[in-house]
Amino acid sequence: MPIATVNPATGETLETFEPIAPAEIERRLAAAHAAYGHHRTTGFEERSRLLHRAADLLEEDTDSIARTMTTEMGKPITAARAEAAKCVKAMRWYADHAEGLLADEHPAQADVTDSGASRAVVHYRPLGVVLAVMPWNFPLWQVVRFAAPALMAGNVGLLKHASNVPRTALYLEDLFRRAGYPEGCFQTLLVGSDAIEDILRDDRVAAATLTGSEPAGRAVASVAGDEIKKTVLELGGSDPYLVLPSADVERAARTAVTARVQNNGQSCIAAKRFIVHADVYDTFRDRFVAGMRELTVGDPLDEETDVGPLSSERGRADLEELVDDALGHGATALCGGQRPKEQERGWFYAPTVLADITPRMRIHREETFGPVATLYRVADLDEAVALANDTPFGLSSNVWTRDDADIARCVRDLQAGGVFFNGMTASHPGLPFGGVKRSGYGRELSGHGIREFCNATTVWHG
Ligand code: NDP
Repeated sequence: MPIATVNPATGETLETFEPIAPAEIERRLAAAHAAYGHHRTTGFEERSRLLHRAADLLEEDTDSIARTMTTEMGKPITAARAEAAKCVKAMRWYADHAEGLLADEHPAQADVTDSGASRAVVHYRPLGVVLAVMPWNFPLWQVVRFAAPALMAGNVGLLKHASNVPRTALYLEDLFRRAGYPEGCFQTLLVGSDAIEDILRDDRVAAATLTGSEPAGRAVASVAGDEIKKTVLELGGSDPYLVLPSADVERAARTAVTARVQNNGQSCIAAKRFIVHADVYDTFRDRFVAGMRELTVGDPLDEETDVGPLSSERGRADLEELVDDALGHGATALCGGQRPKEQERGWFYAPTVLADITPRMRIHREETFGPVATLYRVADLDEAVALANDTPFGLSSNVWTRDDADIARCVRDLQAGGVFFNGMTASHPGLPFGGVKRSGYGRELSGHGIREFCNATTVWHG
């Protein structure tokens, strides 16, 4: 994939970049290694000061970086600004909380004594240089939610960003440099994915984190496994959205629209499969479809736009294939199901709701990365839970109900890294984020996230 900024709203190539040469990769690896030698010895106060400074700078840059993101990958400008604000919040959160999250742990005195120690503690030390392979869909947020905890823990970062967001990738390196981080603490490598294996095998790289597709995750995790290096994987999702008889159907339908089309439908935690109890199916369907029809599709730089283009021609083609396959096998398009007529240029796709889905359709098991919802009618909670779990993915899940028994059942049985009741899945710096099954492993954010790239060291005194 060429490293280039191509405006998805027009298809126009705005800028192309040569990948950096092997000698430059080597120089950057050496700089990262050297920077780690120093950064690991700094205290939380110094790290917090640097991260707060980066947050302040990002806050000042919000309008310009939001425009860059929108131009590179097509998210509505309002969402781009919100993404920048979310990053600022997460940076400040980790700057303020990391010390507490990584405080020494004291095992029970009985166990300390039983181990023969006079005292023992668990001390969190950094791992080293962490390689982050990141996607284009939240080009700032995906990086910051790795970088903020990693840097606070004393690690340093090497970013291989998606090839279609090079300007955002370069901005991030510049942001941390301007904030005062020493050279090598956070670097962007403008390289193709073919360069990743050698970088990951390098002894100076300790671990990797990847957010993206299953094939990319498998490629990186295989190499890391071969090298016995720690990885965190955050891959795709096909989150279920259950609407049960006691739900506030009006709210559930309104939220469903946002949950599906956020980020032009290109979010791993977007609700994608809408599983609705027969008692409330007709009402939910009518409200949901009406909401999807009302969305404004258009220029993502326009403040009024709800849904912009997909990020790439390939991305739209993949989505079209899934929808066409479903329609060809008997699905019904309640709205959309094709490119919008109004947009002649760019990679737009109409907000779509498909009903009459059957297991032989690809869309039943594959992730739809765009504004396309599948709608299912179920007879009871057993069927709803079985359908929700009938997917290779397990990122998050959403359930609308006011019934305590339904809640208990869903908490126990839904195979996902999160169960969100009466709302839509969203990440927050204080809550762990990640999946099971083919959605990946490990956790980001919260104390769980910062400890992923730490060496929990047992310190034992005889
Ligand atoms: P990819 O997984 O291909 O890209 C994500 C990152 O991984 C990019 O930096 C990419 O680099 C890199 N990468 C890709 N292949 C490899 C490899 N073999 N070794 C090392 N790094 C690699 O996502 P796409 O953009 O192609 O999107 C395809 C699908 O992936 C989407 O339709 C969606 O289903 C899923 N996806 C999920 C995301 C999520 O948030 N969980 C985010 C993005 C995509 P490069 O750009 O240079 O190829």
